[in-house]
Amino acid sequence: MSWTLLFSRLIDLLLPPLCLLCDEPVPDRATLCPDCWKKVQFISHPFCARCGTPFDFPVEDGTLCGSCLADPPPFAKARAAMVYDDASKRLVLNFKHGDRLHSAKALANWMSLAGADLLGGADALVPVPLHRRRLFARRYNQSAILAQQIGLASGKPVLVDALLRIRNTPQQKELKRKERKDNVHGAFAVPPEKKNDIGGKTLVLIDDVLTTGATAQECARTLLAEGAEAVHVLTLSRVKSFV
Ligand SMILES: [Zn+2]
Ligand SMILES: [Zn+2]
Repeated sequence: MSWTLLFSRLIDLLLPPLCLLCDEPVPDRATLCPDCWKKVQFISHPFCARCGTPFDFPVEDGTLCGSCLADPPPFAKARAAMVYDDASKRLVLNFKHGDRLHSAKALANWMSLAGADLLGGADALVPVPLHRRRLFARRYNQSAILAQQIGLASGKPVLVDALLRIRNTPQQKELKRKERKDNVHGAFAVPPEKKNDIGGKTLVLIDDVLTTGATAQECARTLLAEGAEAVHVLTLSRVKSFV
C-alpha cells in the first residue's frame, strides 16, 4: 500500500464522511445526505438528442430542440449530469474553492453515467483549459481533475495539453450571449506537437458547467478545425435552456 493511500485511509478513519453539499455526516464518503439528494436535479430523458436541453414533455428518441434545428452547434452531442441551479452551483463551488478534491470522484461518477453513450465511442478526453494566469490563481484546473477521474473510470486517455487557452478572457458570467461568443473567439489553440493526438479522433470535451455553450462551442470549433473527427461535450451541470 502506498503512503498516500495509507494516509487517505487514516484520514477516513479519523474524520467522519460529510455530505458533499451541506457537510452533514453521511454513511459513505463522496455522497450526498438524503435531503441534498432531493435538492439536486439530475437530468434524465427526455432531452434534445444533440445539445441535451431537457424537455418538459415526452418526445421520441432522436428529437432535436428548436435551437439545434435552427442553428446546429459545432459539437456532436452535449450531456450533463444535473441542472445548473443553487444546489449544483454549491457543489461546484465546494469543489473549486474548498480543496475538496475527494469530491471529484463522485462528480466524475455522475458525469460518467450521464455521458455513457458519448464515452463509449470516444478516443480521448480533453478538459476545457484555463489560462495559465487563472490556473496560477486557482492552483488547479477543475475540468482537468474531472477529466482525469472520468479517464480512470472509463479507461480513456486524457489529453491535458491538447487544447490551450491562448487568451485570458474576462469571466463569462458578466457577459451577454453575443458578448460571450465574441469574448472566446480565437481564445483556444492546439499546439503543433499535439495535432497528431487529435487528428481523426472522436473527443469528449470535459467542463464543470455549460451555460451559454459559447466556450464549449469555441473549443469544439478549434479541435475540429485542427482535424478532430467529432467533438462531444460532457459537463457536470448545465442551464435548463441556453440564455
Ligand atoms: Zn446534505
Ligand atoms: Zn438541442
